[in-house]
Amino acid sequence: MHVFRLKGDFDTLDAYTPLLFDLGARGLEEKPGEVWAYFPERLELPLPGEWLELPDTDWLEAWRRDLKPVKAGPFVVLAPWHEWTGDEQRIVLEPGMAFGTGHHETTRMALEALAQHVQPGMRVLDLGTGSGILAIAAAKLGAEAEGVDIDAAVIPHALENARINGVSPRLAEGTLEGVSGPYAILVANLYAELHGWLAPGYARALEPGGKLILTGILAEREPIVREALEAEGFTPQQRRQEGEWVLLVYQR
Ligand code: SAM
Repeated sequence: MHVFRLKGDFDTLDAYTPLLFDLGARGLEEKPGEVWAYFPERLELPLPGEWLELPDTDWLEAWRRDLKPVKAGPFVVLAPWHEWTGDEQRIVLEPGMAFGTGHHETTRMALEALAQHVQPGMRVLDLGTGSGILAIAAAKLGAEAEGVDIDAAVIPHALENARINGVSPRLAEGTLEGVSGPYAILVANLYAELHGWLAPGYARALEPGGKLILTGILAEREPIVREALEAEGFTPQQRRQEGEWVLLVYQR
């Protein structure tokens, strides 16, 4: 990995950011007193700075080393190499293969909401399962859990994660159109506009009195979701916010 080091911070170097990306930078990282621009190859840059060479594996290794266990409600999300002696229910995931390690606020809030609302035996759908984390959590809570994802590539990872955790939610490539409800709970960590479009499908997928747990919603876009759900006759039950991220619970 080739790193171009520039003196300054994101604010003072803001004007150079588009140029760095135009020249092929794959990512920028702020370090004390400098910004590191990561390039796939070394090239002549019309900017003041110096090159640093890093072995390709360093990034991944450093990231793996820094990854901490995450507590969310009754769960702790661990990487396979973490040791944990607490009483929490463990969810062990190989990180980095698909979205959903528990480190994102939205996943954490969804885990906490599942723990509050899922009862054993309920049918739970995790729409956009990614790593499978929410379907795995629902299965650990005793639900008859199912997870689908539009991206076929994540499913083998989700299945492997389920296996490591000793649960067997049904996991498959798919979207809301292909599922066969009705579900008692539908959890989805997507984004506000998509929740808006899917609102009529959410109503069809849930049983009467069923609950929607929706996150991935930026606070400024929350009205899109609320308006779409309320137009479908859903009633608000709960709202949580962490940083700029919102989680909403609605009941059909
Ligand atoms: N459920 C995990 C979590 O909470 O951490 C992963 C959430 S990740 C933000 C969103 C996932 O939804 C991605 O894996 C993406 O492929 C999937 N996705 C996006 N649009 C979708 C759709 N219309 N139907 C099903 N899955 C979708």
